Amino acid sequence: MSQRVAIIGAGPCGLAQLRAFQSAGAKGAEIPELVCFEKQQDWGGMWNYTWRTGLDENGEPVHGSMYRYLWSNGPKECLEFADYTFDEHFGRPIGSYPPREVLWDYIQGRVLKAGVRQYIRFNTAVRMVEFDPHSGQFDVTVHDHDGDRTYSERFDYVVVASGHFSTPNVPYFEGFESFGGRVLHAHDFRDALEFKDKDVLVVGSSYSAEDIGSQCYKYGARSITSCYRSAPMGYKWPQNWEEKPLLQRVQGDTAYFADGSHKHIDAIILCTGYKHHFSFLPESLRLKTGNRLWPLGLYQGIFWEDNPKLMYLGMQDQWYSFNMFDAQAWYARDVILGRIALPPKAERLADDQAWREREEQLQTAQEMFEFQGAYIQRLIDATDYPSFDIAAVNQTFLAWKHDKYEDIMGYRDKCYRSLMTGTPAVPHHTSWLQALDDSLRAYLAEQPSDLKAAG
Ligand SMILES: Cc1cc2nc3c(=O)[nH]c(=O)nc-3n(C[C@H](O)[C@H](O)[C@H](O)COP(=O)(O)OP(=O)(O)OC[C@H]3O[C@@H](n4cnc5c(N)ncnc54)[C@H](O)[C@@H]3O)c2cc1C
Repeated sequence: MSQRVAIIGAGPCGLAQLRAFQSAGAKGAEIPELVCFEKQQDWGGMWNYTWRTGLDENGEPVHGSMYRYLWSNGPKECLEFADYTFDEHFGRPIGSYPPREVLWDYIQGRVLKAGVRQYIRFNTAVRMVEFDPHSGQFDVTVHDHDGDRTYSERFDYVVVASGHFSTPNVPYFEGFESFGGRVLHAHDFRDALEFKDKDVLVVGSSYSAEDIGSQCYKYGARSITSCYRSAPMGYKWPQNWEEKPLLQRVQGDTAYFADGSHKHIDAIILCTGYKHHFSFLPESLRLKTGNRLWPLGLYQGIFWEDNPKLMYLGMQDQWYSFNMFDAQAWYARDVILGRIALPPKAERLADDQAWREREEQLQTAQEMFEFQGAYIQRLIDATDYPSFDIAAVNQTFLAWKHDKYEDIMGYRDKCYRSLMTGTPAVPHHTSWLQALDDSLRAYLAEQPSDLKAAG
């Protein structure tokens, strides 16, 4: 009987896994039976925007953390699929930092072409995965919201591709109960216009703080204050943006900071990160990690050490994203197809530990993306995923970092060359700071005047 593979989630990772198998099948390989469970109504994971917060239409925790007006925060040239380029999808060069909907369109283009939607059971949330040591198989229990039915099926392999930017890490600060304005986590942030003419406090100093603060600035917040626990972000902020050491407490509508200063605040946005959260996994199979480049317990960053028939995709902190997920998915596929043999457990553990030790030595951003690049190189060298110039991607990351320090509100106007096709990106018709409409239609219009003409 054919082997069965369960894939949990149809975001970029789950879709990469489907595409990896489909591509092997197209080349004549016999592929296992694939079932991808997706709790949302559509694919694309985080890139499938939802206006909802809290619970979704099925009563499941809302997965999406993306917001309106979100544009790629790194050059698209760093995440390009090696087997499906931007040139192939759009048929012409576009800018380097497309808005969310444009990237969602790109993600979909590849899987529509591959014809893998048939493998996905939408509106189906995975509730529990159990391993049966006697049969060596997994029982996967799911809830099908369309039929309002809970059922279980057996699988030989399980691929966890459920993402890790959905369960917010929410700290408490004294006075929150009686704060006069709104307190929310970045997970629930949807539209910067809500904060127009407001004094906004952003707690945190990572990507979310940087980008949500920038959104608020772009859409007319009166002032932005960001506060940090360890170090300031250090960009050249606009004149109405101030960085302060960590918030200590709030009283009424005043925020007090670690340097003794205080400030009037209308709203507080907690950009304090996310937790790896797998409510559907038992203790024996559950990855427990912070957001870091080398979570311990995964051989090759993929295979659960105690039971390598359980695989995780995309659990790392991400410099690289889509093409790293591909590299992992192709590798996982080849292990399942028997093309790659896993070494004995002791060797796997030693290898895992060696990568962790390397990770712990990393100091600079450059060392970090080079580390991740080296990891990806190792994976793609072992499979037929099209090779690409990782050293050149690292150079693009470096230039991007530099651009941000030069001009944090202007870096998205820069253009890079594709590392897959060599095509240079072209400047978008409107600078990022002026471009208030983030729709696919607005972005792909040759000129803003074309939009008006089209109505
Ligand atoms: C605000 C924000 C901005 C970002 N910006 C960028 C960016 O500019 N560039 C970039 O490269 N990356 C960005 N990322 C990272 C982004 O998460 C990844 O690009 C990518 O979406 C990760 O893919 P994934 O498949 O691992 O997870 P996700 O995209 O999160 O998809 C996981 C899927 O699993 C499903 N799922 C979860 N639990 C279950 C369950 N129990 N049963 C069934 N289905 C389930 C979810 O519904 C979802 O569809 C951003 C992330 C956030 C939060």
